[in-house]
Amino acid sequence: MMAFSGKAALVTGGTRGIGAAIVRHLAKGGADVAFTYANSGDKAATLVGELKTLGRRAVAIQADNGDPDAVRGAVDRAASELGRLDILVNNAGIFPSGPFEKVTLEELDRTLAIHVRGVFVASQAALAHMPQGGRIISIGSCFAQRVPYGGVTLYSMSKSALIGLTKGLAREVGERGITVNVIDPGSTDTDMNPATGPAVAAELALMSLKHYAQPEDIAATVGHLAGASGRFITGTSIAVDGGFSA
Ligand code: NDP
Repeated sequence: MMAFSGKAALVTGGTRGIGAAIVRHLAKGGADVAFTYANSGDKAATLVGELKTLGRRAVAIQADNGDPDAVRGAVDRAASELGRLDILVNNAGIFPSGPFEKVTLEELDRTLAIHVRGVFVASQAALAHMPQGGRIISIGSCFAQRVPYGGVTLYSMSKSALIGLTKGLAREVGERGITVNVIDPGSTDTDMNPATGPAVAAELALMSLKHYAQPEDIAATVGHLAGASGRFITGTSIAVDGGFSA
C-alpha cells in the first residue's frame, strides 16, 4: 500500500514551485489532491490532467489566499469533491522585499492576509473536516529562524507568525491525533527565487551546503510529516535550509 492511499489533501498555491512538487509527491504516494492557485489557470489544468493519469482524483480551485471567503470556500469544496480531507498544506506565498521604512500599509496588509490570515482561516476550515490522524503542515521560511540582512522584515515577520500558530494549534488538536507543523525552507529553485538569480552567490555564502534546494527536497519533508512516519512530530518547526540557520 502506498503512503497516502485513501487520503485526501489540499495544498494552497499548488501550480508552481514548491507547491506543485508537494502536489505531485502526495499524488504519487496515493493521495487524492486538491490545490489552489491565484492566476495560473493553464498550469492548474495541466497539473490536474497529470494527476488524473496517475489515477488520482484532482481538483484545481482558483482562490486568493488573501481572501478569507475564498479560502474557506476552497477548503469546503476540496473536502466535498474528494469526499474527505486528511492533509492541509499551507504553501501559498509571495516575497515582499525592500527597506522597512518604504513598506506601505497595503503591502503590510496584503502580506499578512496571504501568509497569516489565510493560513489561520484554512486551518480553521480544514479542522471541521479532518478526522483522527489529520495533518496540518505550513510552509514558513528560514527567515523565521535567522535574518542575516535587511530588506526582508515584513516577510520574516509574516513567516515567524506561523511558528506561534503551529505551537498553539498543536496543543488544541493533539487529543484528536492531529499534528501541526511548519517547515522552514531555505533557498529553493523556483520562480520566486531562481537558482540563476543575481543574489545566488550571496545566498550560498550563508549556507553550509553550496547549492539551492530543489522543490522536491521540501516536498519530501512534507511527505515525511504527512505520512505515518510523522505521527509523533507536532508543534515544531523543521528547517530544510542547507544549513542556513546552523
Ligand atoms: P512560487 O512563486 O514559485 O509559487 C507560488 C505559488 O503560490 C504559485 O502556485 C502561486 O499561484 C501561489 N500563490 C501566490 N500567491 C497566491 C495567492 N494570493 N493565493 C493563492 N495562491 C497564491 O513560490 P515558491 O514555490 O518558491 O514558494 C512557495 C512557498 O515557499 C511560499 O510560501 C514561500 O514563501 C516559501 N518559501 C520559498 C523559498 C524559496 O527559496 N523559493 C524559501 C522559503 C520559503 P499562481 O501560479 O496562480 O500565481
